[in-house]
Amino acid sequence: MSGATSYWCELAWLGGERATSGVVVEVEGDRIAAVESGVAAPPAGAERLDGLTLPGFANAHSHAFHRALRSRTQAALGSFWSWREQMYGVAAVLDPDSYRRLARATYAEMALAGITAVGEFHYLHHGPGGRPYESPNEMGEVLIDAAADAGIRITLLDACYLHAGIGPGGAGRPPDEVQTRFSDGDAGAWAERADGLEDRSGARVGAAIHSVRAVDRESIPLVAAWARERGRPLHAHVSEQPAENEECLAAYGLTPTQLLAEGGALTDSFTAVHATHLTRDDIGLLGGARCCCCFCPTTERDLADGIGPARELLDAGASLALGSDSHAIIDPMEEARAVELNERLASGERGRHGAAALLSAATVDGHAAIGWPEAGRIEVGGMADLATIRLDGVRTAGADAATALEAAVFAAGPGDVDRVISAGREIVRDGRHAEVDTARELSESIAAVQGTAG
Ligand SMILES: [Zn+2]
Repeated sequence: MSGATSYWCELAWLGGERATSGVVVEVEGDRIAAVESGVAAPPAGAERLDGLTLPGFANAHSHAFHRALRSRTQAALGSFWSWREQMYGVAAVLDPDSYRRLARATYAEMALAGITAVGEFHYLHHGPGGRPYESPNEMGEVLIDAAADAGIRITLLDACYLHAGIGPGGAGRPPDEVQTRFSDGDAGAWAERADGLEDRSGARVGAAIHSVRAVDRESIPLVAAWARERGRPLHAHVSEQPAENEECLAAYGLTPTQLLAEGGALTDSFTAVHATHLTRDDIGLLGGARCCCCFCPTTERDLADGIGPARELLDAGASLALGSDSHAIIDPMEEARAVELNERLASGERGRHGAAALLSAATVDGHAAIGWPEAGRIEVGGMADLATIRLDGVRTAGADAATALEAAVFAAGPGDVDRVISAGREIVRDGRHAEVDTARELSESIAAVQGTAG
C-alpha cells in the first residue's frame, strides 16, 4: 500500500510510563512518517482511533501447527511428554496444503489479537519418513505465504533438529519416525537447506537450535556460527523441563545454558525460549551476553513447566520477549500480565514488572528478538504497526489516560482489539480480519488435520 494516511489516536503509548493523549500518527508506505502529540481533536482527513493505540505486538515464539491441539490437549492432560505425543500425531499428518491453511488461520487469529509479527520456530521440514520435498524448503515457504495471507510479518526461525534425545556419552539418539520429518541428518545439511531461504518483504530468516536434546555438543557451534556469520537471530528452547537439565548434566557435566555458551550461541542476537529452570550461573551467562529470554507463560502453565526467573534475568542484563508457543490461547496481553502475576504468587510481592515494562516485552523487545529492530515503537521511521485497544468495552470501561496501560495489560483481551495496522496496511477493523474468515478457517483447517490424525 502506498500513499500517506493520517491517524488520530485518542490515547497512544509512546514508550513512557503513561499513555499520551491526542496523538497524530502519519503513515507513509510501511513506515511512520510523523508523530505529533497534544492534538485535541482529529485533524481534517485523519482516521480516528478511539481507545489506546499500541505498537503492534510481537509473538516471539510460535509453532503454528500446535493450534490444532487447543482444547484436545487440555482434555487429555497427562504430562509435557504425553502432550508431545499428541503434538507428534498432528505433525505426522500435515502436508504443505493443510499446513498452509492451518497457519493462515492461526496467523489471522494472531492479527485479531494485535500481533503484527511472529517468530515461527519451524522444524517440520520434510515429508513423511523424512523424505525431502522437491523444493526442500517447501514447508517453510508455506509458512511465509500464510503470514502474508494474514497480513503479519514473519521471521522463519529455521530449526536444526537432529536427535530424539541425548544418548550415552552425548551421542544423539536417532530420531523416531515422526522426528525424521524434522531432521536434516547433520548440521551441515541443515545449513545447506537453510541457505536456500531468503529474506523478502514482510519475511526474514533466522536460525534455531531446537534444544540440547535435539542438537548435540558438536553441532551447536555450527548452527551458532551460521547465524552469527549471516547476522541472523538465533533461538533455542532452553531448560523448559527439569528432565532436560538432568540429561544434559549427566551427559556433559554442563547445564543446557552452559552447553550453549560453550558452543558460542550466547550473543545479543540469541533468544532463550522458556528459560524456566535456570541456575544462578545460567542467569549470569544469559544476562552477561545480553541475550533475550522469551517467556511463554500460558503454555508454560498449561504444560506444568514452572515459572522462570524473569526479574532475575532482567536484573542480570537480559531482555524479555513473549510468545504464545503452543497456542493454548493467543493473547499477548495475557502473556504479559502472567509474567507479573506468576511472580506475585511465587514471591509474595507485587510490582516486580510494571505495565509499561510488560508492554515493552510484548512489543519493542519482542520485535528485536525476532530480527525487526525497526518495529515495536510508535516513532518516526518505525514500522507502521498499530494495535488499538477499546477502552469502552466491559473489560476496560472506566480506564482513563492515567490507567490505560494497566487496563490494557491487566484487563484487556483479544476481544478488545478493535483496529490493527500492520506495516501500514489495515488488517483488522471493528475486531474483524480484513481478508480471513478466521473462525471458519480455523475450524475447517483443524477438522481436516484432526480428521486425518484420527
Ligand atoms: Zn516452543
